[in-house]
Amino acid sequence: MRFGILGSGSSGNSALLLTDGTRVLIDAGFSARKLDALLGGMSLSLNQIDAIFLTHEHGDHTAALEGLRRHPHIQIFANAPTAHCLQHDLKYRPSWQIFETGALFHFKDLEIEAFPVPHDAQEPVGFRFSSGHPDDLFSPSRSLVWLTDLGHAPLNIRDRIRDCDALVVEANHCPHLLQADPKRPWSTKQRISGRHGHLSNEAMRELLDSVASPRWRRIFLTHLSRDCNSLQAVEDSLAPLKQKLACQFFVVEPGMGTPLLSLD
Ligand SMILES: [Zn+2]
Ligand SMILES: [Zn+2]
Repeated sequence: MRFGILGSGSSGNSALLLTDGTRVLIDAGFSARKLDALLGGMSLSLNQIDAIFLTHEHGDHTAALEGLRRHPHIQIFANAPTAHCLQHDLKYRPSWQIFETGALFHFKDLEIEAFPVPHDAQEPVGFRFSSGHPDDLFSPSRSLVWLTDLGHAPLNIRDRIRDCDALVVEANHCPHLLQADPKRPWSTKQRISGRHGHLSNEAMRELLDSVASPRWRRIFLTHLSRDCNSLQAVEDSLAPLKQKLACQFFVVEPGMGTPLLSLD
């Protein structure tokens, strides 16, 4: 399994997941043209992408959809409320593949579980992607969990993230920088920091600290707010975790991505 983040933050989120038999994107929050260019940086193009898995309908996760009209071979996985909401604004019908939130399903050599997350959207989900076989030395089982856009992490989410090799989790804002931000009205600040908003650095730290799985090898901190967070604030929150967890941390700067990394 190989994984790389194409871009992250409120201006757009998307990541690439590769296995021996599958090339998929998780979310598609850039124009199709930009997504194609970002994939070009990894020696790929949209023509080679099999499917896109959507977490929820917000534009920073779905902006590519209208432009994907020119790439009809790409299957778009979403639950029914998300697909219905997105279809309303589209001038064509993508190749929807509807999944049930909470169910386990397969696409090629991937096993996927979509689990509910608390966020202000129709039916937002996180994903757990697994591939390979536990007893196969050449293709060992690997799992990645994608967890962004959630206001808090209830117990079912804590259980979901324990058993994975790589974890993508949001570190959206620093509460002090959010409160001091002159651009956002009070109501927006309430929404961001609310139970159906986004995880703060401190909420991310508490979540990782409470689960602290020995299986984790790579943790990606994503969806950082450009105005209401900083790399330093995220690093400060991570410092105590780095003492406790023997894994690699990647703090993804807003608007930036990561290289393509092997999860084996
Ligand atoms: Zn988002
Ligand atoms: Zn969102």
